[in-house]
Amino acid sequence: MRIFIAVYFIALIIEIIIRVPLDRKRKQEKMSERRVTSQEQILLGLLSLGGLVAPLVYAATNWLDFANYTLPAWAGWLGVILTTGALFVFWRAHADLGLNWSPSLEIREKHELITRGIYGLIRHPMYASQWLLVIAQPLLLQNWIAGFLNLLVFIPFYLLRVKAEEHMMLDSFGTQYQEYMKNTGGVLPKL
Ligand code: SAH
Repeated sequence: MRIFIAVYFIALIIEIIIRVPLDRKRKQEKMSERRVTSQEQILLGLLSLGGLVAPLVYAATNWLDFANYTLPAWAGWLGVILTTGALFVFWRAHADLGLNWSPSLEIREKHELITRGIYGLIRHPMYASQWLLVIAQPLLLQNWIAGFLNLLVFIPFYLLRVKAEEHMMLDSFGTQYQEYMKNTGGVLPKL
């Protein structure tokens, strides 16, 4: 249904609206550490293919029609609910992390370890929000390529990124980050 495709693109636009002002401010910050690997750059490129290019081709042309499938309406609405939850978590994470956010692995000179707000529950709310979105995507975009490519790329990206990020945070914040890890979950709150 067109409405589910529309929800997917509206969510992308809302994410851009949340992120762009923070990205502008962040670019004025001095960084003390940067850990970017070519492996991660490749996966980030593939994520834009699965998150933007394939969905656009699916929505605007009939080239991917051979891979379409149809789900019952409730599945599409479940996708809408998951997307709404993802956007809420995405917004809270940006509000709490502020200028400490970066698209790649970076530590700024004035970096502060955030353990409040949503970061008091989970260490990776932005990745949690991305999980919700990649799970919602095949429910909203009912096509084997446009629906699933992002999920397929996100799994290795997530595994590599979290490992490298926690390593970097431990190197920068030592016992403070160790303590923080004891009290929080990764993408799901600790019971
Ligand atoms: N993993 C987090 C943050 C993603 S943005 C999330 O999913 O919400 C990646 C950058 O955030 C990293 O370069 C690191 O510098 C920063 N970061 C991650 N956790 C942080 C925290 N608790 N406090 C401050 N900065 C953090």
